[in-house]
Amino acid sequence: MGKVTGFMEYERLEEGYAPVPERLKNYKEFVIGLKADEAKVQGARCMDCGTPFCNNGCPVNNIIPDFNDLVYRGDWKNAFAVLDSTNNFPEFTGRICPAPCEAACTLNVNDDAVGIKSIEHAIIDRAWAEGWVVPRPPKAKTGRKVAVVGSGPAGLAAAQQLARAGHDVTLFEKNDAVGGLLRYGIPDFKMEKSHIDRRVEQMKAEGVSFRTGVMVGHLPEGSKVTNWAKEIVSPEQLKAEFDAVLLTGGSEQSRDLPVPGRELDGVHFAMEFLPQQNKVNAGGKLKGQIMATGKHVVVIGGGDTGSDCVGTSNRHGAKSVTQFELLPMPPEQENKPLVWPYWPIKLRTSSSHEEGCERAFAIATKEFIGDKNDGKSGKVTALKSVHVEWANGKMSEVPGSEKVIPADLVLLAMGFVSPVASVLEAFGVEKDARGNAKAGTEVSGGYKTNVDKVFAAGDMRRGQSLVVWAIREGRQAARAVDIFLTGSSELPR
Ligand SMILES: Cc1cc2nc3c(=O)[nH]c(=O)nc-3n(C[C@H](O)[C@H](O)[C@H](O)COP(=O)(O)OP(=O)(O)OC[C@H]3O[C@@H](n4cnc5c(N)ncnc54)[C@H](O)[C@@H]3O)c2cc1C
Ligand code: SF4
Repeated sequence: MGKVTGFMEYERLEEGYAPVPERLKNYKEFVIGLKADEAKVQGARCMDCGTPFCNNGCPVNNIIPDFNDLVYRGDWKNAFAVLDSTNNFPEFTGRICPAPCEAACTLNVNDDAVGIKSIEHAIIDRAWAEGWVVPRPPKAKTGRKVAVVGSGPAGLAAAQQLARAGHDVTLFEKNDAVGGLLRYGIPDFKMEKSHIDRRVEQMKAEGVSFRTGVMVGHLPEGSKVTNWAKEIVSPEQLKAEFDAVLLTGGSEQSRDLPVPGRELDGVHFAMEFLPQQNKVNAGGKLKGQIMATGKHVVVIGGGDTGSDCVGTSNRHGAKSVTQFELLPMPPEQENKPLVWPYWPIKLRTSSSHEEGCERAFAIATKEFIGDKNDGKSGKVTALKSVHVEWANGKMSEVPGSEKVIPADLVLLAMGFVSPVASVLEAFGVEKDARGNAKAGTEVSGGYKTNVDKVFAAGDMRRGQSLVVWAIREGRQAARAVDIFLTGSSELPR
């Protein structure tokens, strides 16, 4: 419970950041984690509220009051054991989780929440440094074979759990490296990729086989093997070779903006732009990388992906960066009695915004304007925007508010609509109304799809979400697959 009076004695301490001019010079992480004595004081702020809403607010149900108390008492090894019992990859969440647990913290009702995420970050970094994170191969093998398709956080968590339960797990990934959006999406300055690499080593030692460059599905008629996948494995092959198949292919279909001029050069999806920089950071050579250097960049979409485009554009040396959001500006402070312990809608300013960005709210884009003036070809040079008003959930344009602003690079970061349909169709998996794989959770169907021995989890099942939700679904789906294969499971829920 930390120190009885700690919450009255100590203030919340945020993690530090390297100064903006310094961090803009490279793509390295710049968050300065808490030192051991600082984490101890932050742990002391946990007040043993009796009903730890934080534990429920955390999608993997981290046992937060217990690790807070252990850190306060200086028992870091047991703090790690507690954290490790619910979360396969705290080094990912300790860096990039938006921390819904903190919104739910009881201290957050009338004070600043306990800095749970920063404590998690401190515990797991110390655990790696001390050598406490070691492979945990199973004591006995079951002889059952499981294929996991997609190596994002959902697939990784599921594969690790299933291997620890004694199954022979093969993880298939169409990209050239493991990690899903952690690897090719989330910028290195938020999470360096060495964190994935050392987990892959741990999982190999636990018996997981990784097959990268392998696309699972059917090739569209008439097309050749894609430029990134070396090999195609059909659903029929997988189902014949494996006792169970878990689909964790993510939600990769970006939302488009089909306005005039969409086809102009220089208008790109965020997910064409961001992964390229990750590849270059990893030492890859790219021809014709999309660069923001010296350009007026407009990012369309006010969420996390948009914010990552802002941070990357500033590191490229953009001339200006503007971010558009269709919705009105939310309040700076939520109405706590009304929304606690739920995730509040409020103005969030990311570290990337702080690095330089103009943010515009309640703005829609009407047209992209090119240098050839025929609306179809050439390079984008500007865009036409309009202010919008919202009433009763309906949007209308404000007459006379149209504006043309310079734009040499436009990045579309408006979220993802669904998984790429062809993968689910190749398996014959039924989709829900949003186009995601139709499968229930632990309480409503055990991640099973309509196809015999085929399961689905993560963004592919729940739609675009968060890393921590993907880890939860991976863990729960692993348990469901384990029960399917052996009739029972000792894997934690
Ligand atoms: C730019 C960006 C920034 C984000 N930032 C954050 C953040 O800061 N914090 C946070 O919590 N969440 C963030 N998210 C969301 C988070 O990354 C996702 O919710 C999470 O990665 C989903 O995990 P997943 O395992 O379900 O799928 P993914 O991570 O999408 O992984 C799916 C994998 O499956 C592979 N695959 C797909 N189809 C096939 C196939 N047919 N054969 C073989 N392989 C296949 C894909 O190549 C991919 O590697 C961000 C997302 C984006 C796009
Ligand atoms: S995983 Fe996210 S929600 Fe859970 S304790 Fe860590 S920061 Fe909080």
